[in-house]
Amino acid sequence: MKVLDLQCAHQHRFEGWFGSEDDFQSQLGRGLVECPMCGSTHISKMLSAPRLNLGAVQPVVADAPAAPAEPSRVPATAAPADPGVQAAWMKMVRHVMANTEDVGSQFAEEARKIHYGERKERNIRGEATAEETEALLDEGIDVLPLPIPAALKRPLQ
Ligand SMILES: [Zn+2]
Repeated sequence: MKVLDLQCAHQHRFEGWFGSEDDFQSQLGRGLVECPMCGSTHISKMLSAPRLNLGAVQPVVADAPAAPAEPSRVPATAAPADPGVQAAWMKMVRHVMANTEDVGSQFAEEARKIHYGERKERNIRGEATAEETEALLDEGIDVLPLPIPAALKRPLQ
């Protein structure tokens, strides 16, 4: 018995049970494999999980600066408005700040060096422009834009 992860043309995912891979191909060829949700017979096999590379990601945090001056001056922070959610979010930001090294405006450069093994692996945070963040993501470097509330940025008196 073989369990296959299948997907129809409408991106419905489901499991199919077949005697063998050949059995699946033969049933597919005869239009006997149907999506249980929409009845589509345009079915393709999903990649099996072990082929997805989930290892070796470098968690880094980018504090993307506020979106560049739009005429309307809409506040650019994404802080949730709900007080309970906001408290949890502040807690998360504090946790991130306590567990990352601040590299400031060197963020993009540092993230790249860590990614390519030129620097010791560690979690960093800093500032990056939207373009830098996009370039890092393009290179497969994991960064997370995280607006940090002004209250937490203020230096301790
Ligand atoms: Zn479907």
